Amino acid sequence: MSAKDQYSIDDLENWTAAAGDLDPPAILGVFGDPVAHSLSPHLHNPALQACGIAGQYVRLHIGADDFARALRLLPDLGFVGANVTIPHKFAALAAVDEVDPLARKLGAVNTVVFEDGRALGFNSDGPGFLRAIREEFGIDAKDLRIAVLGAGGGAGRAVAVQLALEGCERLVLMNRTREKAEALRAEIEPYFAESERLLGPGDRLAVADWTPKALEHELAQTDLIVNATSLGMKRADPELVPEHLIGPHHLVYDMVYKPPRTKLLAAAKAMGARGANGLSMLLWQGAISFEHWFEREAPAEAMRQGLMDAAAAVR
Ligand code: NAP
Repeated sequence: MSAKDQYSIDDLENWTAAAGDLDPPAILGVFGDPVAHSLSPHLHNPALQACGIAGQYVRLHIGADDFARALRLLPDLGFVGANVTIPHKFAALAAVDEVDPLARKLGAVNTVVFEDGRALGFNSDGPGFLRAIREEFGIDAKDLRIAVLGAGGGAGRAVAVQLALEGCERLVLMNRTREKAEALRAEIEPYFAESERLLGPGDRLAVADWTPKALEHELAQTDLIVNATSLGMKRADPELVPEHLIGPHHLVYDMVYKPPRTKLLAAAKAMGARGANGLSMLLWQGAISFEHWFEREAPAEAMRQGLMDAAAAVR
């Protein structure tokens, strides 16, 4: 029997009837609501096959009210682990038995490992972002002056905290709702005091207004522009950064990957800047999750191929 597109809480509670005939059996899954669009099975099923692991990765369509209960069911159903996506990443912090210190600092869990019936929570989004930047631009994020646009959202927050832990050269937080960026600044300020650089801690971390003028001022002292907002997913979305503010020296990373060429990336190309979309972050967060589950190196090329095939199919 092949897997359904997604499984419900009722399916999990009646697993033998819903999935008892699955061959190979489900051993991994992603919790989300909605989850039908998730590309994660296209990353992990090729990885499981490449490693000769007899199991498959399925989508679990679970609402907020059922999430904690569903998580508890998985170990007895033979699951090795799970990913957690919108809207459960914050709830997962409280729902697991133990939280890895990095996930605690990033404020979200996106990877769960089941060990002796206990649920251990990790975050692979922050480390996945760092690997993506290294791969795309051949440079470590810690050596860059970085502007995170959308620093108050879930993904922007995780990336900003990870960058602060790395002690990057300079970090400016920008968010439509400024208070969220201010709260984040207060939280990550101590990390900048811990790492020594040419600029003092006060100059290395800033919050800027969500205005074109402030953007112009900040981008003049930025190497890497990161879009962590949801702007760019829809054709009708407004422009995030006016083209004339981007220069050939900028690196532009758009966490959005659908469509693959957003308005921001088109502007970067037009201005001679290097740009990359969020597929590489998706790949590397998946590879790091795989490493947590199986304590072995992930077959990144098989995962990349699976992702490319899936992305091409939905284009
Ligand atoms: P989220 O928690 O809902 O945050 C959304 C962010 O976008 C907030 O900062 C929000 O600002 C901002 N925003 C929304 N509409 C806006 C508008 N009209 N003008 C200005 N800012 C606006 O979402 P998320 O989970 O962080 O995801 C954000 C994006 O990252 C999504 O596109 C997601 O697909 C992508 N992502 C990619 C990966 C990857 O692996 N590549 C991983 C995670 C997420 P306010 O705070 O003011 O509302």
